[in-house]
Amino acid sequence: MYQTARVMIMDLKQNIQYLKGIGPQKSKALKKIGIENIYDLLTYYPKRYSDQSELTPISMVNAGTLVNITGRLLNIQEKVSRRGMKITTALLADDSATIQIIWFNQPFIKKTLKIGSNIFIRGKADYAYGGYGHMTINQVASYSVLENNEVECKFLPLYTLPETIKPKFFRQIISTVLTDLQKVPCALPLSIRTKYKLVDKKTALQYIHQPQNKDEITAARRMLIFEELFIMQCGLIYRRKINSQNRRGIRYLANSNLTNKLYQQLPFKLTIDQQNVWREICHDMESPIPMQRLLQGDVGSGKTVIALLALVKTIENGYQGALMAPTEILAKQHFVNFCRTLTKLDIKVGLLTGSLSSKEHEDALGKIATGEWQIIIGTHALIQDKVIFAKLGFVVTDEQHRFGIEQRARLETKASYTPDVLVMTATPIPRTMTLTVYGDLDISSIKHLPPGRKPIRTFLRTKSARDKIYKFVYQQINAGRQAYVVCPLIETSENIAAVSAEAVYEELTHTVFKNTSCALLHGKLNTKNKEQIMNDFFTNKIKLLVSTTVIEVGVNVPNASIMVIEGADRFGLAQLHQLRGRIGRGPYNSYCILLSDNKSDKSKQRLTLMEKVNDGFKLAEADLQLRGPGQFFGTMQHGLPDLKIADVLNDTDILLNARNEAEQWCHTQNNIAAIIETIKLQYKNNFFKIFDT
Ligand code: ADP
Ligand code: MG
Repeated sequence: MYQTARVMIMDLKQNIQYLKGIGPQKSKALKKIGIENIYDLLTYYPKRYSDQSELTPISMVNAGTLVNITGRLLNIQEKVSRRGMKITTALLADDSATIQIIWFNQPFIKKTLKIGSNIFIRGKADYAYGGYGHMTINQVASYSVLENNEVECKFLPLYTLPETIKPKFFRQIISTVLTDLQKVPCALPLSIRTKYKLVDKKTALQYIHQPQNKDEITAARRMLIFEELFIMQCGLIYRRKINSQNRRGIRYLANSNLTNKLYQQLPFKLTIDQQNVWREICHDMESPIPMQRLLQGDVGSGKTVIALLALVKTIENGYQGALMAPTEILAKQHFVNFCRTLTKLDIKVGLLTGSLSSKEHEDALGKIATGEWQIIIGTHALIQDKVIFAKLGFVVTDEQHRFGIEQRARLETKASYTPDVLVMTATPIPRTMTLTVYGDLDISSIKHLPPGRKPIRTFLRTKSARDKIYKFVYQQINAGRQAYVVCPLIETSENIAAVSAEAVYEELTHTVFKNTSCALLHGKLNTKNKEQIMNDFFTNKIKLLVSTTVIEVGVNVPNASIMVIEGADRFGLAQLHQLRGRIGRGPYNSYCILLSDNKSDKSKQRLTLMEKVNDGFKLAEADLQLRGPGQFFGTMQHGLPDLKIADVLNDTDILLNARNEAEQWCHTQNNIAAIIETIKLQYKNNFFKIFDT
């Protein structure tokens, strides 16, 4: 019996179903929380601990306080009250005194507690019925029977478990596995463990599940977090390495006839930041190692012109360039813009989106395959298998946060050699985030907006000011400007109490804006309609555009100078900032009005920040702190495995150390084989998905 158990446990990949006490049903329940084998079980960490280290002697228990006590069970009785309530009364003694413990309607208690055994109780104390100064604990928060030297008497680990798995049973299984545990593969080389004074993995696992004191929890967490972040960083570095070593890159020449021409045509001079970024990109392009660069810059900072320059340099060298945008509207807009500039340089630009007719689509595919189109702008349609480029040399993805790592990777593999890649994002990302989400990219930033911009003035108002606000919008439109009204929903919903674009459009077009040309824009319209509306807005035929967040990214209409955001509390700060970035693009005074009747402090605090802060980076950081990493990070994390214990926001110091060590280690060791085993154990296939592409 013991023999078989040992054999099972030595193999960490062994299915838990064969552990004693786990049948098909329990294993099904455990699978739901990601536990299939022994290793999964061991790395299913406690969410919290119930601190039993600070025990109160029974004689010191005070009424009204929450206490932890242990004592020997002297007596246990059950009786039924006149009203039929089952009352279990136990008497517990330690060296100092005795105390009464009471449970209501829990008849099974009497069966589980044996007279003479040691019991831990956490609960709230009160005067015993009848007074006399005696104490009783009649609100028991938790209790457990303590075996000899029971680990549970210190820190009781609390796990998030399905209902069918009892905590005690779970702890028991972990305890069994830990007892027989032999070696556990660890991704951290000894040298790193020594340098950072990290315990070995087996010890860490023991400490995390069965800590004797707080220090052990701390030591375990440090080691496990470090290892996890180290693995992740190695993975990302490895990905970049594969891309740059095993694949051939293009070495662009520095001759710059076409780019110079473009340069001269620009109606403005590049800012210092733009010049620096352009220099970095040229350097990358002229080196044989494939470029993989992230360009960060707030909305309106002028990233597009950088992409344009790089694409022209690509064409100049005889390659094709592609630009992938997250929405059709944006793709179309880039297309129109690019055509205007590039036809003068005799460069052929094409558009590929999902809404082309099948004939147009065929036609486009042909022109891409023959190389007739030199620059191709598109949406996700660009990464379909059917799309074959003649000679793809440069790939730009715009507003990257909408794409996952996998999608990015798919466009990169559309050539027999590795094209250079530029990823652009307006979501300002704190450094710790870039290291995790974009850990495989170099980073450039445009920190300052081009000169001469008038700051957008933002106001937070309640619905009571609505009439006044729309009157103001009306005046602005009469003065020649255009306006956006943004709503959180398309149509009114029974379940969500938020303003819908349809309702607002109905209302406004029948009241203040009866005689104004208005349009309603949302994601459910077909593309032709959407395009028509955007076009009419762009050419100033439409004055007021009621829409959902489809206008969020990239849309550029400099004459639009006012934006009303209905139900503003429904949006994240980063998103509001993106939305607001649609105005303030011309020489006019711009106004963004946030409407919200949400009275919670948190909501007010967030929206007030919008009034005060115009800098996207500062807002993003504030947003992170207010909303927590979950939401912020969640949407950007596509393609990366879920972290089991690390929290990239709180564990910043460890993250930076892990990043440095990973960089050195992957560099000198030149192989990742040693930690592949751990990666496979820890993340199964999830982690390799991002490599396979
Ligand atoms: P984003 O970074 O949000 O994509 P865009 O590239 O759309 O920003 O640029 C916003 C506006 O700023 C455009 O109208 C663009 O022509 C203008 N612009 C870009 N660079 C400069 C510059 N150096 N000086 C003045 N205006 C510029
Ligand atoms: Mg842009």
